Amino acid sequence: MNTYLEDIKFILKSEYSKTLETATKQEIYQALSKTLMVSLTDQWEVSTKAYAKGKQAFYLSAEFLMGRALGNNLLNLGQTETFSTLLESVNLNLNEIEEIEEDAGLGNGGLGRLAACFLDSAASTRIPLHGYGIRYDYGIFKQLIENGFQKEEADEWLKYGDPWSIRRFDESVIVHFGDGDVRAVPYDTPIIGYEVKNINTLRLWKAEALVPFDFEKFNDQEYDLAVKSKNRAEDISRVLYPNDSEDQGKILRLKQQYFFVSASIQDMVKQFKQTHGDDFEHFSDYVAIQLNDTHPVVAIPELMRILIDEEHLTFKKAWQIANKTFSYTNHTILMEALEKWWEGFYKELLPRIYEIIVKIDKQFVAELKALNYDPNVIQKMRIISDHMIHMAYLAIYGSKAINGVAELHTEILKHQELKDWYALFPNKFQNKTNGITQRRWLALCNPELTAFITELLDNPDWLKDLESLKGLAKFENDDAVLNRLMDIKHTKKLQLVEYIKEVEGIELNPDAIFDIQIKRLHEYKRQLLNAFQILNLYFDIKENPENEIVPRTFIFGAKAAPGYQRAKGIIKFINEIAELVNNDADVNGRIKVVFVTNYRVSYGEKLFPAADLSEQISTAGKEASGTGNMKFMLNATPTIGTLDGANVEIVQEAGMENNFIFGAKSEEIEAMKADYDPVEIYMSHPRLKKIVDTLVDGTFNDEGTGWFKELHHSLLMGASWHQPDNYFILHDFDAYVEAQKAVNEAYKNKKEWAKKCLANLANAGKFSSDRTILEYAKDIWNIVQIDV
Ligand SMILES: *Cc1c(COP(=O)(O)O)cnc(C)c1O
Repeated sequence: MNTYLEDIKFILKSEYSKTLETATKQEIYQALSKTLMVSLTDQWEVSTKAYAKGKQAFYLSAEFLMGRALGNNLLNLGQTETFSTLLESVNLNLNEIEEIEEDAGLGNGGLGRLAACFLDSAASTRIPLHGYGIRYDYGIFKQLIENGFQKEEADEWLKYGDPWSIRRFDESVIVHFGDGDVRAVPYDTPIIGYEVKNINTLRLWKAEALVPFDFEKFNDQEYDLAVKSKNRAEDISRVLYPNDSEDQGKILRLKQQYFFVSASIQDMVKQFKQTHGDDFEHFSDYVAIQLNDTHPVVAIPELMRILIDEEHLTFKKAWQIANKTFSYTNHTILMEALEKWWEGFYKELLPRIYEIIVKIDKQFVAELKALNYDPNVIQKMRIISDHMIHMAYLAIYGSKAINGVAELHTEILKHQELKDWYALFPNKFQNKTNGITQRRWLALCNPELTAFITELLDNPDWLKDLESLKGLAKFENDDAVLNRLMDIKHTKKLQLVEYIKEVEGIELNPDAIFDIQIKRLHEYKRQLLNAFQILNLYFDIKENPENEIVPRTFIFGAKAAPGYQRAKGIIKFINEIAELVNNDADVNGRIKVVFVTNYRVSYGEKLFPAADLSEQISTAGKEASGTGNMKFMLNATPTIGTLDGANVEIVQEAGMENNFIFGAKSEEIEAMKADYDPVEIYMSHPRLKKIVDTLVDGTFNDEGTGWFKELHHSLLMGASWHQPDNYFILHDFDAYVEAQKAVNEAYKNKKEWAKKCLANLANAGKFSSDRTILEYAKDIWNIVQIDV
């Protein structure tokens, strides 16, 4: 313990010329984190060595939405108490130090957060899984709200340096592009298992130029030209999802994909050869590669390129090896998200990879012909068609397994979106319902509830086996337990109230129902439906001011993609509603609307535990899984939602009666599509018409952007690319309002409400990402747990 303090002091002195008394909180955070890094290096090496002998899995992902590391690492190392006490002894507060840390926001939303949860779960369940991705200089943008509009700012997460990663220049590799070579430099971050010795690795690649600058040009005082190729190289790992509305942006994204994929595959081959020589026949006995969505699918031809061109295997052999090594996870059935590349970009940037893909396509066509496939079906399924390369098709053909991320999603893939593929390769299709790590999403963010569960369960190791939560079910009629559960919820609400006051400057009533919708802003997630429902309540109150309703606080948190105008319009609309509702004397505080700024992992850690109601209201069939829904459930929160994604399994586990399910089912939506007429609903529903028309009747002001009018138009008239009310908001409106009324009634009965909360908590075990990872390990990777 004292040696830790000595280490911290030493680092403060060597890095900052400071003492504990003079150091800033940022410097203390850095020194503390580096002290922990030093303390675990030996163990990290022991793990790495132990893993090298056997089979390992690698998770290739363009996103890792890690959030903060300090608190999680202390938790997993079992050192939280020690360090909290240590800091207290020198008059510092651990929580304040933790709050200094910038989120590692190297992802957009659910897909990136899933990758982060998987890493935590793999290390904690002793599965040798490592992450490979890109070390973006700037992660997901920082969101500001100005006059109700979203503003984006660069996310300077590396401003003070990252104490959790080690630059390993010696392990750099070179990535070749049609227009020149780039150096990929790895940065390694330890992924610490919970109460085990295992430490896995997240390796993120940074792009650098081979030559720092052009000496001659600089000498000739041509300064811009001198650093041109350096900047070009560094652009590759500069930002997460650069704008790709123009060709230059598209090319940059393709470069990002190939950059991290090539570096990662080269790295894996290099490590394989160190232990197994050139016995590539057995490559897949030691290496399993999981492709997180289509972004890293170019890994399939890249592995083949290396095996053919550098290791001199035949095309056929290389294909067989790839086919046993790769697996692919599909995350979406939204058509616009199924990735396709114009072959021209490939020809120019990755000519050899393009050749290999053409050969794969030819082989596939020949196989289908041999099976007597109809030429039209072949044309529909082939990997290159209309000069576009279909990454999902390449992934399915080149992988041994493809999985959806919730039961419903997998069924939709098999029977709708990818039904031709399912008919061809029925044995490749699997389901792996997503999960979340209970370390971050319960133990770290809700220590109060965690301590209470420990008190209630006989099993002190319940956090390692989340199914043990089932043991809580027996307390469903225990008033003392139910009251404590609600007291803890109140405590978490008070903490959130304080935080929101501090960062947003908004006062909230902790006795109101905290009704929370936090997730990326997207039309299919239907934040607009929630907004309409709030207006409905508002008009109810205006018409009948004596209305008895339980006070309700609607909290939204969401980033809109910078180029997604409609999503930005919805943010402005919600903020306009907040302005109206929060300042109306008739409302008198009964309803309040808050749009919190810059929703991210660390904000989520404060929001999920404080929620009374989880909003999961996507159009049925559109949300592949959702994982936010699981975070609420694990923090003892009932769901109001549609039968979509993992909501289906949540109510299977926790009971329909303990949640508020409404709206059209996925097959109903499918059946309705052809003749859905939202205008008919609009014309025959005066209240709904009044609500929808607030977009255009002057109730609200979009500052001349025309965004509200466009939203109105999209609902009633559609657009060139979609039908009117594409996401069935008007169709589900009444059902949603009814479900919200049921919430209002149910909440009045405190005990019944508490029982619903308990039922959700007690049945959340299935949604541990430990369960998901062990399923991948067993059913797909064929990997066993390793004791280090
Ligand atoms: C969990 C999480 C998500 C995913 O939320 P969904 O409701 O499943 O879309 C997105 N962003 C952050 C920061 C998260 O923690």
